[in-house]
Amino acid sequence: MAAITLVSGRILMNTYESSVAEARFELMPAHRLQTVLREAEHLAYLYAIQGDRSVPSRFKEIGETVNREFQQLTENTLRFDSVKHAHSNVSISETVAAWQTAQAAALHMFQFSPSTTEAIDGLKRAHATIDPVYDAISEFHRGSMEDLQKRLQDAHSIADQAYAAILGAILIGIVVLIAMGLVVGRSVLQPLVELQGAARKLGEKDFTHRVKLSNTRDELGQLGRAFNIAAATLQRLYGELERRSTHDGLTGAFNRAGFDARLSAECKSADRHKRSLSLLMVDIDFFKRVNDTHGHQTGDQVLQTLVRLMNETIRPGDILARYGGEEFIIILPETDEGGAMAMAERVRGTVEGYSFNCPIGVNIGVTVSIGCANRRAHAMASEDLVKAADAALYQAKKTGRNRVVSARELSAEGAPEPEMAAA
Ligand code: GH3
Ligand code: MG
Ligand code: MG
Repeated sequence: MAAITLVSGRILMNTYESSVAEARFELMPAHRLQTVLREAEHLAYLYAIQGDRSVPSRFKEIGETVNREFQQLTENTLRFDSVKHAHSNVSISETVAAWQTAQAAALHMFQFSPSTTEAIDGLKRAHATIDPVYDAISEFHRGSMEDLQKRLQDAHSIADQAYAAILGAILIGIVVLIAMGLVVGRSVLQPLVELQGAARKLGEKDFTHRVKLSNTRDELGQLGRAFNIAAATLQRLYGELERRSTHDGLTGAFNRAGFDARLSAECKSADRHKRSLSLLMVDIDFFKRVNDTHGHQTGDQVLQTLVRLMNETIRPGDILARYGGEEFIIILPETDEGGAMAMAERVRGTVEGYSFNCPIGVNIGVTVSIGCANRRAHAMASEDLVKAADAALYQAKKTGRNRVVSARELSAEGAPEPEMAAA
């Protein structure tokens, strides 16, 4: 933009300066002619009236000067084209002819002695012939002045147009810069901000966030795509890790850590809403025999099938966890002792009635013993609730297996139930 302004300014200055210089150059001979013609007239007067004898030789010199200036004027006029002098009706060749007549009149006068009638008449003729030449030169001068005026006006008009063009170029430049800024903003800055935001989310372990891709072809788009793939992989691995930390790998039920967290949360919720909560401790009867008879792999399948069966039996809000080995625990939120016992019986009966398939085609019958403990609608430590269920389970084992025992039965029979007493 600066370069355009400088170059345009220089062109304008050159146009203006050359116009003025040309006009001045043309005007100079005309101006000098006016001076020497006046001098020639004066010399004629000095000779005819005052009798100055040196005049003829001086007039000769003046005549040569006039001829030289006419010559110059003619050359200039040819050089700058007569069209430029449209304001002047003067013909240079006619004026030169008029000067030669005037010069001849003056030279004729010098043949007569000064102050004689012939000399005075000669002076009149000389004046009469020099004046038209002077007038013609003046007319030429005036025309040239008007011409100069016109050229200056043209130069100004060119300058105005050039300034308008420069202003237009600057405005177009500004618009182009703004447009480029918008394009760069859209294609570079926006994806960068998007990537920065996505990286921050990743740092905050929000693996669900994805970079919004408007253009997947350029480098930033490809970077965003790679970023999204990495975030998706991290999301899957992190989810898997989280699941493994709270769930049992073999059966898919909650593991001990998952159970502890859920039990603590459910106890708090029960306290807050003053609701009852129950626990069922489930243990497979003589499971060692299953392993010993059919192999450990079959034992694993029995464990998996048992979890599926129990999940199908309990309600959606109930929580099943593998407490360890062949021992399971079920949290029954918002369930009193009667409801818990009913649920325990349903689980026991379902397992008893189910025929577990083993790989070699032999069906295995499995039973479970269940201890039931209820946490009434007042605060009771979760560990105490587990201990109560465990004690009830122990009692179920002791009294024959494949049966359900409530922790309340133990206290009713006078058996020690320290947990409940403590609660
Ligand atoms: P009880 O009726 O008294 O509970 O007898 P039980 O045989 O079930 O109890 P015991 O504690 O004697 O044996 C538990 C068995 O459970 C021993 C162990 O090999 C088996 N077990 C524990 N975890 C797994 C497992 O993940 N897979 C398999 N296949 N067996 C397991
Ligand atoms: Mg067992
Ligand atoms: Mg056991």
